[in-house]
Amino acid sequence: MSDPATAAARAALDALPRAGLVPAPTPLVHLPRFSAVIGAEVWCKRDDVGGPGLAGNKARKFDLLFGQALADGCDTVVTTGALQSNSARTAAAAAASAGMACVLVLRGHEPAAWAANALLDRLFGAEVRFAGDVGWGELDALVDGAAGEARAAGRRPFTAPVGASSPLGALGFAAAHLELTAQCEAAGIAPAAAYHASTSGGTHAGLLVGLALAGGGPRPHAVAAGALSADPAAAVAGLAARAAALVGLDPGRLPDPSLDVAHIGDAYGVPTGAAAEAIALLARTEGIVCDPVYSGKALAGLVADARAGRVGRPVVFWHTGGWHVLFDPAYGDGQLALTPAPTPPWVPR
Ligand SMILES: *Cc1c(COP(=O)(O)O)cnc(C)c1O
Repeated sequence: MSDPATAAARAALDALPRAGLVPAPTPLVHLPRFSAVIGAEVWCKRDDVGGPGLAGNKARKFDLLFGQALADGCDTVVTTGALQSNSARTAAAAAASAGMACVLVLRGHEPAAWAANALLDRLFGAEVRFAGDVGWGELDALVDGAAGEARAAGRRPFTAPVGASSPLGALGFAAAHLELTAQCEAAGIAPAAAYHASTSGGTHAGLLVGLALAGGGPRPHAVAAGALSADPAAAVAGLAARAAALVGLDPGRLPDPSLDVAHIGDAYGVPTGAAAEAIALLARTEGIVCDPVYSGKALAGLVADARAGRVGRPVVFWHTGGWHVLFDPAYGDGQLALTPAPTPPWVPR
């Protein structure tokens, strides 16, 4: 834990410039009623509250990306994602708070009605462009093109990939793991795992680096909410190795990533009945809201494992945010309200 190589890497991580976007530490709270209903002691790491643009896991990544950009004298961020991207919305809000311009190149087409994250993008003053029906792999080149245009217009842009999952962005979750480990020690708990939703892999990769730096603490249990590449575990391992190298940590110290791919359903963004049930269960026992694209699928993974007796006690559910999408009728009413969900038994505090 206190060997010199790890201590030097932790110091390098601490020394990275930050933009002050994360209200750290985010709360770690026990969920007594939800725990009783699913049969496992669950603690929630609440990245769904606080931070720019109404919270979420992307603030941790953009904290480092904007920190470096401010140090470099940049004045514009160019990034990308789906129409309802939480990452794009966080970038737009962070840009507003940093006094920068924001250009978003979103996959798909201009919506008939602007709602949820897309509405917030415009409220935060971002310039929103639509890429049409392109593959995830084509978006980075479009971002580079938009950055080139900004440069030609005399601006100083920086770019962020899908999900802000660059090696530097991922390090936001290395710091987050150290934050969680300290909170667990203070609470007197030693959780075996932290369940979280995963797509672009920065959260997972960063937590693996954090686990190596902390020398202990909860192991990330990544529940895939969609597959952006053919081999997501290899993509996470590669990203974690590049993130580790940034702080001088030997990538050979990183634990192997393992990904739970049983809860994606038909595809990224397509709801599952199990996620709708898990979302209703958490909402009705604890008053905490998950979304059907990411956090609801991770929660469904936790509920399934708890019911199958596979969860050691206690366990952390890392709430990565994303609830904003419920205010788009296509996701909210269309995916949840019409799905029958049982009202759980009342459990006293
Ligand atoms: C982006 C996102 C994730 C996945 O995080 P990655 O680092 O991209 O794997 C999980 N939950 C929510 C709500 C997100 O917006």
